[in-house]
Amino acid sequence: MKKRVALAGKVGKFGRMLLRRDFIKAGALAVGGVLVSAQTAKAQEGGGFTLPDLAYPLDALEPHIDATTMGIHHGKHHLAYITNLNTAVASSADLKGKTIEALLGDLHAIKDAKLMATVRNNGGGHWNHTFFWESLTPATKSGKPSDDLAAAINSAFGSLEKMKEAFAAAAMSRFGSGWAWLIEKDGKLAITSTPNQDAPMMKGVVPDAEIGKPLLGVDVWEHAYYLKYQNKRADYLAAFWNVVDWSAVSNRLG
Ligand code: MN
Repeated sequence: MKKRVALAGKVGKFGRMLLRRDFIKAGALAVGGVLVSAQTAKAQEGGGFTLPDLAYPLDALEPHIDATTMGIHHGKHHLAYITNLNTAVASSADLKGKTIEALLGDLHAIKDAKLMATVRNNGGGHWNHTFFWESLTPATKSGKPSDDLAAAINSAFGSLEKMKEAFAAAAMSRFGSGWAWLIEKDGKLAITSTPNQDAPMMKGVVPDAEIGKPLLGVDVWEHAYYLKYQNKRADYLAAFWNVVDWSAVSNRLG
């Protein structure tokens, strides 16, 4: 009897331990859930945009794009655009909950000129850089244009080399900071260039003739190349082709 009581006591104690452990676990989940919800709410309150991870290490594009440039470009410049975008979105109920594409495709819906400029510059900065990182890959994986993309390039420019020349010419002639683009417009390919962080889907901001679906873009802000190439933008542009992810570019066609 005494033994059974003792056993019952042990079982009881074990049972209480289980209960306590489960309670602690459930409590931790509840607390975790609250934390996650609070973080999500805070992110949405702040605009909700976050810095995307790179699909490759910072040094994966060496020697063409150096790791130090990648680290600062992604971790500082891109992050700053996102932080500023989130602050802007948080300041206006009209902007909350929209995708970046929706914001950039309808900038003139933002009536406050200062707010519009902030979303244009920083939303553009976020979209452009996300697109840029996704357009790059280590040189060993660069590959080549798909048959369909090669045919479209040949049709518009005569050859891949001619397209690269036109693209580089647009990038070289962009005065100050901006981007050069290969876009698809009305089923045909074209080369364009935008100032600052303007992007090819910014209707009403970018000239109509230059609105299109971006297939490839190159950042020609000095922060994209100055540490390694200094004033030699042409050298950076020549090196850029080594790390273009032709599979990603090809998949954007159509
Ligand atoms: Mn940049």
